[in-house]
Amino acid sequence: MNDILPGEVETWQFLEAAARRVFSLHGFSEIRVPVVEKTELFCRSIGETTDIVEKEMYTFQDKGGNSLTLRPEGTASVMRALIEHKLYARDPLSKLFYLGPMFRHERPQKGRYRQFYQIGVEAVGVDDPSIDAQTLAMLNHFADEIGLRGLDLQLNSLGCPVCRPDYREQLLTFLQKRLDGLCDDCRRRYQTNPLRVLDCKVAGCREATHEAPAMLDYLCNDCDDHFSAVRGYLDGLGTPYFVNKRMVRGLDYYTKTTFELVTGQLGAQNAVAAGGRYDGLVKQLGGPELPGIGFAMGVERLFLLLDGSRCEAKKPDVFLAALGEKARREAFNRMHQLQRRGIRAEMEYQAKSLKAQMRRADKLGARFVLILGDDELTRGVAQLRDMADSSQREIELARLEEFFEPSPVIAAN
Ligand code: ATP
Ligand code: MG
Repeated sequence: MNDILPGEVETWQFLEAAARRVFSLHGFSEIRVPVVEKTELFCRSIGETTDIVEKEMYTFQDKGGNSLTLRPEGTASVMRALIEHKLYARDPLSKLFYLGPMFRHERPQKGRYRQFYQIGVEAVGVDDPSIDAQTLAMLNHFADEIGLRGLDLQLNSLGCPVCRPDYREQLLTFLQKRLDGLCDDCRRRYQTNPLRVLDCKVAGCREATHEAPAMLDYLCNDCDDHFSAVRGYLDGLGTPYFVNKRMVRGLDYYTKTTFELVTGQLGAQNAVAAGGRYDGLVKQLGGPELPGIGFAMGVERLFLLLDGSRCEAKKPDVFLAALGEKARREAFNRMHQLQRRGIRAEMEYQAKSLKAQMRRADKLGARFVLILGDDELTRGVAQLRDMADSSQREIELARLEEFFEPSPVIAAN
């Protein structure tokens, strides 16, 4: 679990602001849900036999004896909220996004942490392939907006309750002959949830399943048409993608379209974003029969790809350096006035020499330094020093604000 320090947090803010901008352009609204839920919610949605539920959840008993879990992902909570507040009655298509921490007790390594942040979206209520393409196009738009290059969009279909049972049989037949080559977990998965075997990271299992049948080759007509239509929309937009028949996701609720946005730069942790359709999920959680699709991006992985290079801490517009007790008080008042006007103003809070104050202004990267002395105060003037070229001029204190550009006011809506 990481601390995000000043100097890094600016890049996080940049990513969050870009997400807010892009998603709102596409008509998505933010939803905030709690970080804890009843354990049962995740067991019922993610699937009892997934790695997340079997091994990775932070589960505890609260004082009332309820089993609670720190959310390992966002979709389950958003669907719970959608059902609880009947959001589907407000609008037949709910377009939502969220951002916040998720928790999984995994082995920590580069790009994989126990508390990590996701930015995710969900579009619930319509199963037309255009919604799938819209969601993917928005992901692509976001990647462009933050300047990410060289990512591959991998696409697959995981079928539906009509075609998957048939495929499952085919897969079982294939796996049965290769059980000896599988790890203990996968021998168990063979019994409980054979598709999960395809997602195993153990080298022996990957090898044994190299030639396994692929869901994509067993799609029913409906799923096949859906997949072709999604591809048609993406082709029409000129959005590049690869079909990856081997892709299975780590959660059980996926149906039809599934996808990952993959980078070559992060080693084994190569998925920057991942998602797909989950048409049975809302019903399964006790809501109406509503189809949905969504994705989640790992913010730490986006951060690693941006290399922290996009943003820096904001620097002061002006540093007020004061010499003498009266001047210090004047500087203090002026600083506050400037701050209220939207100008980033700083000063030295302890009485120090001018040299020490200039050093600090320099260290903070102040654009200007305003030097106030007791003598000049009686004339209502001060020296304004431009730190870029060290030029200095006398200005009237009464006109001080004219020299700076205020940062934009945050308006309510
Ligand atoms: P992975 O490929 O890491 O196993 P996953 O299939 O578990 O990913 P999802 O549950 O679909 O991933 O989560 C979506 C995204 O969240 C991932 O693509 C990744 O960017 C990020 N993510 C998932 N787990 C972690 C983690 N432990 N630490 C950091 N980021 C993570
Ligand atoms: Mg995982």
